[in-house]
Amino acid sequence: FKIPEITNEPMKSYAPGSPERKALQDAIAEMEKELPFEVPCIVNGKPVKTGKLAKQPLPWDHANHLCTYHEADQAAVAAAIDGALAAKAEWEALPWSDRAAIFLKAADLVSGKYRYKLMAATILGQGKNAWQAEIDAAAELTDFLRFGVKYVEELYAVQPPRNSAGSWNRVEYRALEGFVFAVSPFNFTAIGGNLSAAPILVGNTVVWKPSPAATYSNYLIYKIFEEAGLPAGVLQFVPGPPAEVVAQVISHPEFAALHFTGSTFVFKKLWKDIAANIDNYKGYPRIVGETGGKNFHLIHPSAEVKNAVLQSVRGAFEYQGQKCSALSRLYVPSSLWSNGFKEQLLTETAKLKVGPAHDFTNFIGPVIGRPAYDKIIGYINKAKEAGGEVLIGGTGDDSKGYYIQPTVILTKDPKSVTMVEEIFGPVLTVYVYEDADFEKTAQLIDSSTAYALTGSIFSTDRKALIQATNILRNAAGNVYYNEKCTGAVVGQQPFGGARASGTNDKAGSMAIFYRFVSARSIKENF
Ligand code: GLU
Repeated sequence: FKIPEITNEPMKSYAPGSPERKALQDAIAEMEKELPFEVPCIVNGKPVKTGKLAKQPLPWDHANHLCTYHEADQAAVAAAIDGALAAKAEWEALPWSDRAAIFLKAADLVSGKYRYKLMAATILGQGKNAWQAEIDAAAELTDFLRFGVKYVEELYAVQPPRNSAGSWNRVEYRALEGFVFAVSPFNFTAIGGNLSAAPILVGNTVVWKPSPAATYSNYLIYKIFEEAGLPAGVLQFVPGPPAEVVAQVISHPEFAALHFTGSTFVFKKLWKDIAANIDNYKGYPRIVGETGGKNFHLIHPSAEVKNAVLQSVRGAFEYQGQKCSALSRLYVPSSLWSNGFKEQLLTETAKLKVGPAHDFTNFIGPVIGRPAYDKIIGYINKAKEAGGEVLIGGTGDDSKGYYIQPTVILTKDPKSVTMVEEIFGPVLTVYVYEDADFEKTAQLIDSSTAYALTGSIFSTDRKALIQATNILRNAAGNVYYNEKCTGAVVGQQPFGGARASGTNDKAGSMAIFYRFVSARSIKENF
């Protein structure tokens, strides 16, 4: 069989008066009317109500919540693991075309029937505006599923060994022995779908712990996979409590792999805990993680100012800066800074309206929750204490939702706290360098943080682009020229970074699938 031709999901515009805008508004209104929802664990295809209730609050109205969910208890987690192990043989033995068909159908359901519902859950529960939700819950999720099928198809077609006379060698891409554990973040609904679906596509079964702050959208993804025909037990949905679920899952002897996106801190903790358990496992668990970033824009004196400003504003403030890839440190040459860059940056930032993300006039929605709000405001205060100058923003309002004004800080110290630590909020710190120091500034970018996720270089001089790209060789896994450092597209810019930013296994490419198979070579003599 041949899979259908795969292309990226076209994006809708949501322009005023467009049918998709109306459809999305209707879906949001309906969800608002019906909330709060009740979300169970799902073990072996059956809802499990543990009675240990937790809430996913609305970030724009924290007195209310989108859903109440049943946290997994020990018995539910144990049953989920047992069920995943039991479901594995049959799932892996299914013809690849049958596994592929389920995810091609799931992609169609995401792109069609459930598009606006998934987006509404992402908008209301995770605070994305319509366009950010479209990028994520509609387009990227669809792409992850469709391109996932394409990449696995290509992986299975790879037959590297040579044959010698009288023998035939082949390689079989087995699923990992045991089960895979997916731990997903709040900031992209699509990532929850991908962390669970990617290992499943190659024949694994998965225990999935979604982020508490994305429980409802992630539950909807589970239901879509189920509707598409995913057999019971192949994916086990066990929302929180995070620390307990994680500890129980990774102490199981058949734990075969971690597929993680989240904070650097949690990822390192998990890695250490896995290491401490190493003697108890059947094999060496694969550890795949995408974590934090401290992403940069380096502006060369030859750069086109208007574009550099607009891209910087979008890179820093889209989705309130809560993307791993978000811009948070901006290096501007003094000749441009004082000749329009600063003024345009502040003018453009001042245009961004802050408020509930489901009101289509707001660009900046709420940040995800109380700890995030406090942490971000804390960083703004630390920057001020360290002598940073707040050029715009700097304040928040948490009376009803968790709103923080888009904030630009000017610093004279390129190693000051908001230039080096990840904030995960709408805070951009600017360092102005002397024009002659372009090369030195690239070196500074490379050496001043632990992270290496994304970065952009802005220049109309190709030599400068190449020079900085060479100096910054290890400073980012995704590099952009004259464009913002966010918004990698599945199938176009494989995504991920190294250093403290992750294992760089490149979501949205074939590379990720290699991590979830264990090849077997078979030689046969004739
Ligand atoms: N892939 C997303 C981007 O390029 C970021 C994903 C993340 O935040 O983890 O913007």
